[in-house]
Amino acid sequence: MDFKPLSGREFPRYSALKTFFRLPVAKVSEKFDVALFGTPFDGGVSYRPGQRFAPSRVRELSSLGRGFHMSREMQIFDRLRVADVGDSPTVPIDIQQSYEMIENFAAGILKTKKKFISVGGDHSTTLPLLRALRKHYKKPLAFIHFDAHFDTYPAAWGCEYHHGSFARHAVEEGLVDPGQMIQIGIRGPLAGGDDLNFLKKNKIKVYTVDDIRKNSLESFLKKLPRFGATPTYLSFDVDALDPAYAPGTGTPVIGGLTSYETQKILRSLKVANLVAGDVVEICPPYDHGDITSLLAVDVMFELLCLMANSKKK
Ligand code: MN
Ligand code: MN
Repeated sequence: MDFKPLSGREFPRYSALKTFFRLPVAKVSEKFDVALFGTPFDGGVSYRPGQRFAPSRVRELSSLGRGFHMSREMQIFDRLRVADVGDSPTVPIDIQQSYEMIENFAAGILKTKKKFISVGGDHSTTLPLLRALRKHYKKPLAFIHFDAHFDTYPAAWGCEYHHGSFARHAVEEGLVDPGQMIQIGIRGPLAGGDDLNFLKKNKIKVYTVDDIRKNSLESFLKKLPRFGATPTYLSFDVDALDPAYAPGTGTPVIGGLTSYETQKILRSLKVANLVAGDVVEICPPYDHGDITSLLAVDVMFELLCLMANSKKK
């Protein structure tokens, strides 16, 4: 198998079976570099549901994904062998069973020494992926987290596990190293001042939209820390963007990033060892003209470029 996308001249981009970036479907056991998959679970949302429909919608829109990155001058599909491995199994009405299935699915990919990108699902799906990575790499990961929200909130309705608590669990379970963790795109309102305590206690570096806009974007980009040899994970919640740029999401917050600011930040990140990532909280039933799914395709593209620039394991 050559792991190249289907040609748009042979099959126009609106045609053919939909896979991520029109890439071949492969078994995890085959030999390639990066596995793309869907994690269609939205049982952890507190407001608008529908993120379970994102993997199919993003596959559809990724027909418009092309392989050559203009500013990086890189043909990603010459640098990496990438394939669609389908969706992780989930149980739509049970978060614990889904967590076990998602963790096992990711562990199966890691066992074959591949990197991966997951398309959620709500943000609760990141936790089992991090659990699989923590076991595989035997140390806490460096963590880059785009979001409007901290996702370090307490239990809700007596439930510990939901889309707003995954980052707290990731720190408490020792899956990520808070000293090598940044959050980008954060903004209020918060439920109360207590929401800041966990971040302060663990000294997690937070970049609010105010921080990003205070001076020029170029000067902000220079402030971003470099990520070194530690296996690094990038989790991208699409609500980091303003709902004008990403309306199809579960808990929109106004005053967010633009698509262009997001691209500039992703292109400026220096990550020496990006091992996995995800794009979450895309909610197609609330999207307009597939704006948010199209954004997700571009985030996946930037993640692939960051992986190509990372060292070989
Ligand atoms: Mn989130
Ligand atoms: Mn969020």
